[in-house]
Amino acid sequence: LESTIVKVEKLAILGQLATEMIHEIRNPLTAVSGYLQLLQQHSEGSPKKEYLDIMSAELKRINKLVSDFLQLARPGYCKRAQCSINQLITEVVALVEGEAVIRKLAINLETSEDMPIVNADSGQLKQVFLNITRNAFEALPAGGELSLRVSKDRQQDIVRVVIRDTGKGMDKQTLANMFNPFFTTKDSGAGLGMFISKKIIDNHGGHIEIQSEPARGTTVTVLLPVA
Ligand code: ADP
Ligand code: MG
Repeated sequence: LESTIVKVEKLAILGQLATEMIHEIRNPLTAVSGYLQLLQQHSEGSPKKEYLDIMSAELKRINKLVSDFLQLARPGYCKRAQCSINQLITEVVALVEGEAVIRKLAINLETSEDMPIVNADSGQLKQVFLNITRNAFEALPAGGELSLRVSKDRQQDIVRVVIRDTGKGMDKQTLANMFNPFFTTKDSGAGLGMFISKKIIDNHGGHIEIQSEPARGTTVTVLLPVA
């Protein structure tokens, strides 16, 4: 816990500087990626292509770190407004639909009418649901099903978003660590997605719950208070 706090404080102190620096890193990164892609195209069939592919994979990793870090560098401001969870989830699904087709995944979206409005930073919440959906995709390498369900708990004035995948699931150890910063089980993971997501949901006075079973899948439940 202590090392987590130290890491978070360091990141907070570096906040502004890091954001600026990372924007500066992005430009040369884009140039290098572009020329590398050209080289890859010109080296089809050459044994050197393998080296270029490795470089490209590693560049992708840097790109992911950079964009995840940018998210982390500005969790401070939370610009809240009335927003419709139905609309938000529908927008998230629209953003990932193309990738789902490529990955041969079926997305099953269930929203209920007359959904209450939440008082939230819609950009941040979108980020949370994108992070969760991305993880679900990455847990489903061989196709499968992803379902998103929005419902309302009338008694407790809570909106419930349930995102379920039939993917590889998590063992106990992964489950215990998944919210820790920089924890990842992926070759090119940054390990920041769930850490940031939990932080955002906590800031909104909500909860995030995980149920998971190896080889069966994972269910992520996000609870948010009604405005
Ligand atoms: P990253 O995706 O970069 O690895 P995250 O913080 O998003 O980082 O997730 C941390 C870890 O939690 C992942 O590496 C993975 O092991 C596990 N995880 C999260 N969501 C799922 C899921 N839907 N199914 C299986 N494992 C998951
Ligand atoms: Mg992730």
